[in-house]
Amino acid sequence: MYKIMTPGPTQVRENVRNARSLACTNPDLDPAFYDYYKETCELISELLETKNTAYILDGEGILGLEAACASLTEPGDQVLVLDNGVYGKGFADFVTMYGGQVTFYEAPYTRALDVDAFRAYLKEHHDFKYATLVHCDTPSGVLNPVEELSRALHEYGIMTIVDSVSAMFGEPLRVDEGQIDIACGGSQKALSAPPGLTFVTVSDAAMKAMEERKTPIASFYANILVFKDYYKNLWFPYTMPISDIYGLRAALENVKADTERYDRHKKYGEMTRTAVQKMGLSLYLENGYSNTVTVIRIPEGMTAADILETMKKDHNIMIAGSFDVLTGQVIRIGHMGENANEQDVTETLQALEQTLSSLKKK
Ligand SMILES: *Cc1c(COP(=O)(O)O)cnc(C)c1O
Repeated sequence: MYKIMTPGPTQVRENVRNARSLACTNPDLDPAFYDYYKETCELISELLETKNTAYILDGEGILGLEAACASLTEPGDQVLVLDNGVYGKGFADFVTMYGGQVTFYEAPYTRALDVDAFRAYLKEHHDFKYATLVHCDTPSGVLNPVEELSRALHEYGIMTIVDSVSAMFGEPLRVDEGQIDIACGGSQKALSAPPGLTFVTVSDAAMKAMEERKTPIASFYANILVFKDYYKNLWFPYTMPISDIYGLRAALENVKADTERYDRHKKYGEMTRTAVQKMGLSLYLENGYSNTVTVIRIPEGMTAADILETMKKDHNIMIAGSFDVLTGQVIRIGHMGENANEQDVTETLQALEQTLSSLKKK
């Protein structure tokens, strides 16, 4: 078994693994499970500092993003896609798939989005139904000021979908403070449950927009509206993965108990950035470092594959490459959730240093 130091999936604590092995009831028929599901959703809302209702959907983080776009987009809707990263740009696929018209707001991939520049843009261009934003764009590790950006969009009556899958619980996200209509999260990043679940918090305005659509939502599985009355009707649109939800609940309780979580992420984020620069490596970003992941340029004379292979073979540690336009350009250390601890971060940094010197000798 490798030590997993990737930016998701992350390490999973024993109490989460044990929770997944508890005896199961029939989640469709047992009213007690509806209470359990609802309380788990309420815990998500509490941790994200929002009065908005949360829903847990049975699928990976990607399902949350697609469900948000599927549920809000009607054919011909104008949608603003904020693109300063791979996931940022990727939102456009979900928008167009459901008939939306995309306008990109493009900005460099090496920097966080600038709120003043974005506000200036909005002054001239604001005829959009909603906008998509990414909190931490994991392939490059950039952290965007999504609360401020979302508030700016709201001044023009533009709803917001925020992908915070790889940031939430490692970086602060205050959904109400940011007036975020749909915030998307996943089980396998800083929350440190195994992959398999996504969850969304939904504002009243977003729910109303779904209810008042002229055309039906063009999906059943990626449809948030079908969850709306699950508690009143004691009915889920499909059978809930009860063991996954037991695990998710334990992971959420772990997050809640860890009141210093943002300081802890900051400490290991800073430690990693400082250490890799001391080794002579350079960071991919110029600013906007997320404390959940560090993205490092490949030094001259080596490849990403060489580094990742040596880390696995000689040190039994798995770190990640990247993808899309960043394929082969960078390596990534995920120090989020359970990965963000003194021993694992220190071992990973030592292993990386040894890996670099052994590759240099070749
Ligand atoms: C991991 C991640 C997702 C979800 O991707 P999956 O392949 O479903 O895990 C979505 N957005 C971001 C920014 C992510 O890092």
